[in-house]
Amino acid sequence: MSSETQAQYQFIDKIIQHHLGENTEVKDLEFFYGGNFNLAVRVKLKNEEEYFIKWNQGDHQGLFEAEAKNLDVMGKTSSISVPSVIGAGAMEEKEYLMMECIPSGEKVANYWPDFGEKIALLHKNTSPKGHGLDYTNYLGAASQVNTWNKDGVAFFTENRLRKQLAQAVYDRKIDSALEAKFESLFEKLPSLLPNEASALIHGDLWSGNAMTNPDGLITLVDPACYYGLREAEIAFTTMFGGFDEAFYEAYNANFPIQKGFHERIPLYNLYPLLVHVNLFGEGYLPAVKKIVDTY
Ligand code: ADP
Repeated sequence: MSSETQAQYQFIDKIIQHHLGENTEVKDLEFFYGGNFNLAVRVKLKNEEEYFIKWNQGDHQGLFEAEAKNLDVMGKTSSISVPSVIGAGAMEEKEYLMMECIPSGEKVANYWPDFGEKIALLHKNTSPKGHGLDYTNYLGAASQVNTWNKDGVAFFTENRLRKQLAQAVYDRKIDSALEAKFESLFEKLPSLLPNEASALIHGDLWSGNAMTNPDGLITLVDPACYYGLREAEIAFTTMFGGFDEAFYEAYNANFPIQKGFHERIPLYNLYPLLVHVNLFGEGYLPAVKKIVDTY
């Protein structure tokens, strides 16, 4: 065993013992090295209990504490299954999140309609404070400032698009000509997007965060949730290939989307596209320009 592996084993042991007691014995570890900046491990204990731990080098302060809160916010609604949180914190200059492990199952026949119905249920959770959340959280490594705003389109414009635009301008990825086009688009947004009541949305809803649990049904992981415009969530699902048609049919049957949604999808997806420009580079810029130029 390399010294690095040994150090990782000790680190995981320490987390397990901190949360479950000093006599807890680990039987088996299965490491996940995703493309992301986080590391993860599935832990099996001698008593057969299983847990899932994610950690990073502590370079995104508070990321996992926010993710733990996100899971609690989502879980409290009982609208859709999410892993329960065991704990989150900092140890050895790293930050971690320990949660219930979700073993993978096979999708049952009604997986997609059930998923669509549960997202509709989730979106029926609204907040009297309007659009936002009580704390800052993250979409991937991008921080999301969630200052409450009674106006949904204003929240989306100021706290989502403008924040990412400012970052891209600061990093010289977006020039002043494109910035000016964004400014004129921002003025038009109130007439282009329906200003609905706030809805609790997962915030990073793509297939990689949609697990199939042992019952063959949806369990969501990795939320970047907030109370926002629900259409932004449905638009987001189309970013990387989209979901089964039965998902959208069930969603619409339970919480109908207003007419003209398909034309609005690119406007909502400017947000994740700008996040991609900021996190992963200018390869995503042509898609951004194309959308902004349309308006
Ligand atoms: P990241 O934040 O690094 O993107 P994710 O939370 O998306 O990590 O998890 C990456 C993968 O790990 C998921 O696609 C899923 O397959 C698996 N995973 C995440 N959470 C759990 C869990 N609680 N139990 C089992 N597997 C999980």
